[in-house]
Amino acid sequence: MREWHPTYFAPIADCRAAHPEAVIELHNIVTEFTRVYRRKHPPPAGAILLYGRWLPGMLRRCGEVMKNCGPARCTRERNPLYAPCQ
Ligand SMILES: [Zn+2]
Repeated sequence: MREWHPTYFAPIADCRAAHPEAVIELHNIVTEFTRVYRRKHPPPAGAILLYGRWLPGMLRRCGEVMKNCGPARCTRERNPLYAPCQ
């Protein structure tokens, strides 16, 4: 989806795999996308919920988590809570 709509998915930084919250959100949205579109004739109600409710909410929550991340640096690198185990 990001390839189709790159500006819409701008809140999702390239460091998304480093953010557990984002991984869960993205997993949930892909699961819902698959559930709706695995059928030959996707139900309109499912598509409306996916694009009108679930996707904007996911983008908002992921944007909050990664709002200070960018191509140069991920905020997780500065947060000791996420420091790798020794
Ligand atoms: Zn990050």
